Amino acid sequence: MAERFFTRTGRAEADRLFRTLDALFGEEGAPVATAEIDEAADIHEVSLYVEDASFHGGEGAIEGAFGAFIVEREILPDIDWMAPVLAGLGPVRAGRFLVHGAHDRHRVRVNDLAIEIEAGQAFGTGHHETTAGCLRMIDRLVRTRRPRGALDLGTGSAVLAIAIAKLAHVSVLATDIDPVAVRVARENVGANGVQQLVQTVVANGFRSPAFKRRKAFDLLTANILAGPLMRLAPTVARHLSPGGDLVLSGILARQRAGVLAAYRQQRLYHRATLRLGDWVTLHLTGRAAG
Ligand code: SAH
Repeated sequence: MAERFFTRTGRAEADRLFRTLDALFGEEGAPVATAEIDEAADIHEVSLYVEDASFHGGEGAIEGAFGAFIVEREILPDIDWMAPVLAGLGPVRAGRFLVHGAHDRHRVRVNDLAIEIEAGQAFGTGHHETTAGCLRMIDRLVRTRRPRGALDLGTGSAVLAIAIAKLAHVSVLATDIDPVAVRVARENVGANGVQQLVQTVVANGFRSPAFKRRKAFDLLTANILAGPLMRLAPTVARHLSPGGDLVLSGILARQRAGVLAAYRQQRLYHRATLRLGDWVTLHLTGRAAG
């Protein structure tokens, strides 16, 4: 049974508590997340997600790790998008998004943000935990802060770029090193009616004239792999607007610390980790201005 243990406090104390909990539980595979609840009132929430409390010494030990803070608990509902992941290629729900093939068009509900992607051409049908993790993170982020311009690096099927365009109605640069993926991405962008917003470009990392015109993005998603993400950390940091949102995925849980270290070195700030199966999706924010 998955549970969330959480508390609310000021920013400085939340940061300290985050580090304490992360040191104690991060290695045990229990993700710790911080979220800003009310910036003006300086209220921040620190959450610890556990699959099975007994694995971490029981509830008493977990609550003890929060020290003097009053700990609240929430039982997490069964995650609905894991079922389709296991069942094969049915539609996938992640946050408000429904990623589906043409044959499942009739299953779209009124309030869904539907993304139509055909399986098998390029990576990104929503069935992989890394794509689902990014979609959920994007949904959560854009709800609180709408970006002005986004980059989806390693776009594959363009699923994330289409999601951002549909949700935030902003221009998105979608790049991939693989020309076949870019052709597929362009078709999917057209099929989803967001060709006015999404520009698709073949590029290895940031090596493209497209980055001469657009230098900084306040939402940047990159679902590639831990190795390239670590190598790209300095360039990614440079192309993120001050305080902008960065979503990284394609990272195995055991690689999380290494990727975080590479981005912390660039003075980026870790906000949240979402774990799905063996994979984690990270949310970081850019350096402050100046
Ligand atoms: N964004 C999609 C696809 C992820 S798969 C999703 O979330 O589902 C990763 C994609 O990154 C692949 O299409 C791969 O071709 C691309 N990629 C890998 N290394 C890259 C690099 N250095 N620059 C640009 N794209 C890269």
